[in-house]
Amino acid sequence: MQIQQYALALNQQMRAETVKKQCKMCGKVTIFTDTTIRRHNANGKNIYQFAIYKCPKNHSWNKKLNIYKSFTEHVDPQSIVPTSFVEIEPGKKITSLKRGDSSCEIKITSVNGSFRIDRTLADHLEGWSRSEIAQNIKTGKILLNDCLTKPSQKLSVHDKIFIDVK
Ligand SMILES: [Zn+2]
Repeated sequence: MQIQQYALALNQQMRAETVKKQCKMCGKVTIFTDTTIRRHNANGKNIYQFAIYKCPKNHSWNKKLNIYKSFTEHVDPQSIVPTSFVEIEPGKKITSLKRGDSSCEIKITSVNGSFRIDRTLADHLEGWSRSEIAQNIKTGKILLNDCLTKPSQKLSVHDKIFIDVK
């Protein structure tokens, strides 16, 4: 059985930053908007931190924010999300999670604000109601960091939500 893996950044009050620059794909100067998604990539001994920006035609530009020489106290190793995790873009939902066929793991990569697990999942799972999600939390079909939780539980960075929909 395959587990679908997603990375989710929760940012409530983040204002969209924009940068005017040349888009290589569009072949002209355009406006890139910060998706608020942050990513760490390891390249040899260095760790690069990027902000992911998109042009109006959805081409990506990775703005380099920081370079770390190694895993120091500046980089929490837990914030390195494996590339197998699909990033859920702000305002987008997981549409591929069907009852009965697969399980899903969501890693919370950042939290800026207050987010309940039931409301957050209802906001990000296509076709799932909040009451249905609350029911699944109570029956242990949805786990937080491998443990039973409650629908009103607030999410923290590095939390792992497991959804069993078999
Ligand atoms: Zn473009």
